[in-house]
Amino acid sequence: MIIDHQPLRALMARILLAGGASDDEATCTADHMVEANLAGHDSHGVGMLPSYCRSLESGKLRAKQQPEIVHDAGNIAVWDGHGGFGQVIARDAVNWAISAARQHGVAVHGLRSAHHIGRIGTYGEMAARAGMVSIHFVNGTGALPVVVPFGGREARFITNPICVAIPGTATTPAIILDFATSRLAMGKIRVAYNMGKPVKEGVLLTHDGEPTTDPGVMFEGPRGALLPMGEHKGSGLALICDLLCGAVVGMGTLRDTASSGSRGVYNGMLTFVLDPGRMSSRAFMEGEIDGLIAWAKSSAPADPEVPVLVAGEPERIARAKRLAEGIPIDDTTWNEIREAADRLQVRIDS
Ligand code: NAD
Repeated sequence: MIIDHQPLRALMARILLAGGASDDEATCTADHMVEANLAGHDSHGVGMLPSYCRSLESGKLRAKQQPEIVHDAGNIAVWDGHGGFGQVIARDAVNWAISAARQHGVAVHGLRSAHHIGRIGTYGEMAARAGMVSIHFVNGTGALPVVVPFGGREARFITNPICVAIPGTATTPAIILDFATSRLAMGKIRVAYNMGKPVKEGVLLTHDGEPTTDPGVMFEGPRGALLPMGEHKGSGLALICDLLCGAVVGMGTLRDTASSGSRGVYNGMLTFVLDPGRMSSRAFMEGEIDGLIAWAKSSAPADPEVPVLVAGEPERIARAKRLAEGIPIDDTTWNEIREAADRLQVRIDS
């Protein structure tokens, strides 16, 4: 089906409210998911709702949970999300870091154990809109590992994403580089599985360590695993994310909770926000941004049918298309959303 973003936001918020979320939690999470769909990242869109509802039901996701301020020293803070709504707590954390960076030039925020915080690009976009540079490293615990370390055949990491955001200029939109450190985000394996489609080669291993394109290996029978992006380099970045959030921020690494096997994930995020005006003049920076982006995009395309894009551009293209045409949702995902709504006695009209 194809659905307009406005009724989809309202439906998601109604289901979350019925599940016990506050108004802010319901609206923020609904908007975050729908914005991820609009950006083309269905992996972090409304398809997450059924698992959030299951987590609410099991108590793994705690509604109306305020973060605990573990440490606050002006421009360095550590918060513990204690399993509260990740999209809300991470939004507040990044807003905190933006205003601290405005005051001090730079701010560092360590977030521990929020429930799944969704698409990390959302937080980079917030910083870029405020004229800030931001870097986000994310880890996860409370779930089984799904990504093998380079050279291994047993999973040891989750898809630990990284995001770097550079503000835009009058003519160049913000550059938002936001990626999982696995070959594909786990949610994209779920989307392919729900649509009955294979994934591309070089992404998945079976339980026995054999290459496969069948996304079912992550959902049926003995579990397979995802390969890291960029071989040893992506594997190294996945390790660094878990070390930065798990060891340095103090949330604990996936190792500690790998045996829990419960559904859902708690995210940690180490965020650096920098006011670029403290490093060079904004006019110089913007000239270089405009110049480099134009230079990169001026490369002759390898395939004349496929233009050279820069980070953040595919999401903007998807957003324009989906705002105009609506958001496609596959039948399996829609049925799962409908079941979640039914369990909470929320009526879906179509
Ligand atoms: P992806 O591979 O689709 O895109 C990664 C980045 O590459 C984006 O910045 C995008 O703008 C850029 N890009 C894509 N195509 C491009 C092209 N042709 N030219 C230039 N740049 C291009 O992303 P992914 O690795 O599948 O991750 C998907 C989402 O999953 C991300 O938003 C990430 O934050 C999220 N995620 C969240 C968690 C979590 O625990 N919360 C875990 C993993 C991933």
